[in-house]
Parts: sequence; structure tokens; C-alpha cells
Amino acid sequence: MKITENTDLEIVKAIREGLERTGGYCPCRLERTPENKCMCKEFRDQIKDKDFEGYCHCMLYYKSK
Ligand code: SF4
Repeated sequence: MKITENTDLEIVKAIREGLERTGGYCPCRLERTPENKCMCKEFRDQIKDKDFEGYCHCMLYYKSK
């Protein structure tokens, strides 16, 4: 299992700017809840799921099996 950043630097830049704007909350979500702090609960659960492979919701990170 490996977590890597998207190789598309434009996406990484846009999401990082979004995270800075929100103070670390997922820029793709409206609710400022602890579950939505990056890395958000959804992605942490996807990391735990041995069958999951793919991007997080914002496409900042990629999990390979
Ligand atoms: S979707 Fe990705 S970038 Fe957004 S909070 Fe979750 S892990 Fe971070």
C-alpha cells in the first residue's frame, strides 16, 4: 500500500491553496467538521480498505494497493 500525491501539479497547487484558505478543511466540502480535516475520514477509511485503489475525493492523493 502506498499513498502518493497526484502527479498533476496544477491539481496539487489548486487543492493546497484551497486547504490554506480553509485552514486545513477539505476544500471540496462545505462542512467544517473534524471528519473533513485533511486527511479526511473518507480517505482514511479508503486507506484502511484493502480493496480500494484510487484518488481521494479532491484528487490530491492517490492510494495504490
Ligand atoms: S478529499 Fe483528499 S484533499 Fe480532501 S480532505 Fe480528503 S484527503 Fe484531503
